[in-house]
Order: sequence, then C-alpha cells, then structure tokens
Amino acid sequence: MQDISLEQAISMLLEHTEAIGETETVPLLEAAGRILAEEVRAPFPQPPFDRSPLDGYTFAAAATDGATEEKPATLCIIGEECAGDFFHGTVACGEAVRLMTGAAIPTGCDCVIRQEDVRVEGDTLYVPYALAPYENYCFKGEDMEEGALVAEAGAKITSGLIGLLASLGKAEVRVYQKPHIFLASTGDELKMPGEALAPGKIYNSNLYLLAARLREWGFQPRVYGILPDDAALAADALKEAAASCDLLLTTGGVSVGKKDIMHEVRQRMGAERLFWRVAMKPGAPAIAYRTGRTLGVALSGNPFAAFATFEMMVRHVLAKASRDPSVLYRTGRGRLANGFAKVSPGRRIIRAHYDEDGTVRLFEKNASGVLAGLSDTNAFVDIPAGSPPLEPGEEVTVIRL
Ligand code: AMP
Ligand code: MG
Repeated sequence: MQDISLEQAISMLLEHTEAIGETETVPLLEAAGRILAEEVRAPFPQPPFDRSPLDGYTFAAAATDGATEEKPATLCIIGEECAGDFFHGTVACGEAVRLMTGAAIPTGCDCVIRQEDVRVEGDTLYVPYALAPYENYCFKGEDMEEGALVAEAGAKITSGLIGLLASLGKAEVRVYQKPHIFLASTGDELKMPGEALAPGKIYNSNLYLLAARLREWGFQPRVYGILPDDAALAADALKEAAASCDLLLTTGGVSVGKKDIMHEVRQRMGAERLFWRVAMKPGAPAIAYRTGRTLGVALSGNPFAAFATFEMMVRHVLAKASRDPSVLYRTGRGRLANGFAKVSPGRRIIRAHYDEDGTVRLFEKNASGVLAGLSDTNAFVDIPAGSPPLEPGEEVTVIRL
C-alpha cells in the first residue's frame, strides 16, 4: 500500500472531525480562551448615563457666555456629586454642581469644567472662560449603543472581551464545550515518572509531552496512562473511552513489530481504518480510525515521531473540533543558519529553533527516538521529498509551532 501524503491524511482526519456542538455556561472569569457560543449585544447603552470625564464643575454652558479671566461668570454651587452618586432634581441656568470623574451629569447641565480652571469662594464658582455645550461631556452610549453587536458566536474570548462583557453586567457566558480527548501510551517497557526504573524499561515521556501540549491550548485531556501491549486489554480500554470521548490519542504500537498491537486493537474495537502510513519521516506508520462518532489517531511511539505527527496532523483535528483556528501552527519561510548533511528521499520533518529575524537553526540530534533539543524546539523545518543536503543560508519551509 502506498503511503498517503500528509495533506491527504489531514483532509481525511478533518472529514471525520466534527466541530463540537455542545455548549456550556461558564462564569465570566473562567471564560478566557473559550469559544463563545452565543451572540452578545449590549443590553443597555454603555455608559448607561451621561457622565463627567474629569473632576470639576458642571452647569449649563449658556451661563458662561462672554466670560473672561477679567470678567468671570459667577455661578452658585448647589451640590456635590461623586462617582456612584446621583443628583436628583434639575440644575437651573446659573447654578453649578461639583462632580467627580464618572459622576452622572445632572439634568440642566451640558458641560464640565476642570477643577484646576476655576476659583471657588464659599458657594460661588468663578468660571474664567465661556464653555461650549457638551464640552468635557461623556455621552450615554458613547462606548456601546444599546443593541450594538459586542461579539459574534464563534469568537475566541480574549481578556479584552471579558472586560467588555463585564461592563455590560454579564456574569456568565455560553461557550462551546471542549473536545473530550483521551490520551494514553502503549508499551510494556514504559514506567511512569516517579516509579523506579528496571532493566529494559524507560520512562513514558510521550504521555507527558502530549498532555502538556494539549494543556497549552487549554484542553484538559483525560490522561489515562499506559495501555499494556495486549490488544484485547488495550481494545477494551479504548472502547470504553470512545463512549465518552471525541478523540482517542495513543502513542506506540503502530509499526510491524511483534508488539505493534494497534492494528489488532483497531480491529477488536470494530473501528473503521481511515489510513495507515503517511509519507513523512518520522512518524510514517501513524494509524487513523473511527469508531462511532469518535476519531482515533495512533501515533508512532518514538518520542519525536509522536510529537511531529501530533503537531502536523492532530493539531488540525483539535482546531476544527474546538472551533479555535488559533490552535493551528503557522507556516512560513526561513533561512537556515546551519546545514543538513543528509539527502531526503522522502518528506522529512526536522526539529528546529526559529528566530524572529527569520533564521532557523536545526538541532544537531534529530533521530526520532531522541528527545534532546525538544525544550528549545519552536519550529519544524519541512523538507520536501527528493531534496539534496541543505546548505546554510538556504530558504526552507518553516512550521512555527
Ligand atoms: P513503538 O512505536 O511502540 O514500536 O515504539 C518505538 C520506540 O519508542 C521504542 O523504542 C519505544 O520504547 C519508544 N517509546 C514508545 N512509547 C514511548 C513513550 N510513551 N515514551 C517514550 N518512549 C516511547
Ligand atoms: Mg511499543
């Protein structure tokens, strides 16, 4: 069977991925990063009343017509209002109210003068220049009119949007549920960090790497742990997980070795195989399957193979399921800081560090079983099939993670 291209694999995965339709209501403070599932319109004008943008005095501008420093207008101060107070009653022309920033402008007033610009003696206010109507005046609805569109369904909730929603008194928002993701590793050689190693055993790094990555995007995977290299047991666990999860992610057991159980697991689950093998190195033997409404992706066990295929394929699934396109990587061009000595008969994904100046440095160690360099990896270089060795300075395709 011929390997399918990465692009074909992605489009098959997407074909079998549904954007999550279920919604839930969350407190506004918990909503950052979530995807809004309702349209929000301003339920009232914001600000809800005409108000003062500064600390000063408010009155009818007409009372200051012709005022100069030599011949200031004199007004009678009849009250005082701080933010949060409300002046009931009407202010007559020639009267003034002292008010602070954010205080509602009383009926009869149409301008505000800065406190620093006036002189006060007892309850007499001296205004040294004429004010125009609506000078220093903050209108009701100036921020948002009643009914104005604040955010559309599908918007990602930023801290800025949370501020806006809070200003409109919204305590809760309706958001899309996150996809339910099941994550497990297969391998009888695996121990969990914290356990004692034994001869022949290694620590399970894939589970931690992928779980951490999922959490970086705000997902809360169900981190199962280790599935034994026993097709019947692994199939039972995955079948059970499929009942409540949208995506089953596993690493290991996908190649042709004696313990590469995922082929049999898939069959035992009665799952339909979407593909096996993708034309990329590392990670070629990835399997995709579907059982009911649940998509399964079984990645190669080598840590960098698991990581590379997870980034290149699974991220697309996550972006679609969660309705959050920002989960996707960005693709661009970069200039190699160093060379790559091997020819690439097939498409190759290499870990790298990308700098904002557009240069990209490949890590010296790049074997799929090697984790070195991963802590500084922020990009992959995507080398097309049939490429000769790469020279420093060459332009390459960069996947910015
Ligand atoms: P597999 O794909 O199961 O044949 O595993 C390929 C290689 O990756 C083997 O050397 C495994 O020991 C190693 N490996 C598999 N799973 C993990 C894991 N979760 N963490 C670290 N290494 C792993
Ligand atoms: Mg294995």
